Formats: sequence, C-alpha cells, structure tokens
Amino acid sequence: MTSKPTFRRVLLKASGEALMGGQGFGIDVSVADRIAADIAEARAMGVEVGVVIGGGNIFRGVAVASKGGDRVTGDHMGMLATVINSLALRTSLVKLGIDAVVLSAIAMPEICESFSQRQATAYMNAGKVVIFAGGTGNPFFTTDSAAALRAAEIGADALFKGTQVDGIYSADPKTHPDAERFERITHDEVISRGLNVMDTAAIALARENNIPIIVYSIHEKGGFGEILRGNGRCTVVRD
Ligand code: UDP
Repeated sequence: MTSKPTFRRVLLKASGEALMGGQGFGIDVSVADRIAADIAEARAMGVEVGVVIGGGNIFRGVAVASKGGDRVTGDHMGMLATVINSLALRTSLVKLGIDAVVLSAIAMPEICESFSQRQATAYMNAGKVVIFAGGTGNPFFTTDSAAALRAAEIGADALFKGTQVDGIYSADPKTHPDAERFERITHDEVISRGLNVMDTAAIALARENNIPIIVYSIHEKGGFGEILRGNGRCTVVRD
C-alpha cells in the first residue's frame, strides 16, 4: 500500500442530497463536516481540490416547471441553493483550518467572490480549496455539467463523482441486487448503455477533455483519500 497520491489536482462533485444525511431536506452539518474532513485529508496529501456541490437537497428547477411555473426562474432558485450548500461546506472546511473560498458563477459580491477561470486557478495554485457555486450560471444545465466544465477549466486530472453507492452498476443496486458493478468503463459506454451516473452533457465534456471520472460512495468515510492513494472502491470511467 502506497501513501503517494496518484493525482495532483482533482474536482470533487457532491450532490446536494449527500449533504442532507438522514434528513428529508436541507443540510446536516455533521455530514458537511465529514465531507470537509475527507477534503482536508486530500489536502494533507498535497492534492489540490476543487469542489462543485449540487442543490437538490434544497431546490431543483424542475420542481417549479413540473407545476406549471417558469423553468428559468426555477433553475435560478436551484442555482441559489448550490450557493447555500457551498457556504455550508466552506464553513465546515474553515472549522478544520482549511483555507477555502467560494467562487460563484452568479455575482453576489456581498456573499462570495465571482467565478473566473484565472482567479480559480490562482487560488488552487496557492493551495486553497475552491468551491464552485452557482452551477454553470445558466438555466437548463446541471451541477454535473458544471463539475465537468470546472474540471476542464482548472486542468483537473480527474473528476470525482461522490454518489450514494460505491461505483457504476448496470442497474440500481438498491432495487436490482444482481446488478453488475463495473471496475472500469469508457465514457462512450456509459453514454451508449444509458447508465445513470452523470448527465450525458457532463460525460461528453469530460470525454472531450480526456478527464477520467471516478465514481465512489461519498458516504464512505476516508474513501476519497483511499482512492487518491490508488486504493479504495470505485468505478473508473476513462477511454
Ligand atoms: N442548476 C442550473 N444550472 C446549472 C446547475 C444547476 O439551472 O448549471 C439548477 C437546476 O435547477 C438544478 C438545481 O440547480 O436542478 C440543483 O442542481 P442539481 O440538480 O445538479 O443538484 P444535485 O442533483 O447535484 O443535488
């Protein structure tokens, strides 16, 4: 077992639902603290970490659209939810003594800094954990796409997708106990088999930029660090 990390810079995508813990809504601070501890471990190994958090624990745009409301307004609400989650994660990181900054795709200077690729890269080079809030800043996108986009912009070696399960399965393992679990799969196969990992736009963007996607369980304490050391349970998506 080696302790040398196999990646220099990574982008971690956590869904808003992950922050919810056992609650039906909102943020369980103990879960945010645990995810922050995993990030702190990665920093201690010398790995530079950018983070994108979803907003599904608070709001999703489709919730408005499905009830006859305006989708664009709903997506704005969803993007604001990602800012709330990003501030919560920053708070958890700061408690651990980690230098973390939130950069939002939607300007809100009283609350956090605005995203620019140059600033993000400068902060990452300086060793800060950069949390990318506000998704892509555009409606009709998801935070998965934002994660692939930011991963490409900061030159990440890998996009880590923290999910509810420990990798990619041929079907939902919770409802299909006999589902096949993949150790390794290509971006194209994920798309052609319609596997439910990230949305197609995100996978295509990662593929175009030769960014491997590492799917693992965000609920496994220390799992992020284990994978960074080259061990750990995950599915690797690469061509
Ligand atoms: N959203 C958006 N544009 C983006 C990213 C997110 O409009 O670039 C909105 C969209 O309404 C989405 C919500 O923000 O439903 C929360 O993001 P997401 O569903 O990706 O969160 P997750 O499922 O990861 O918690």
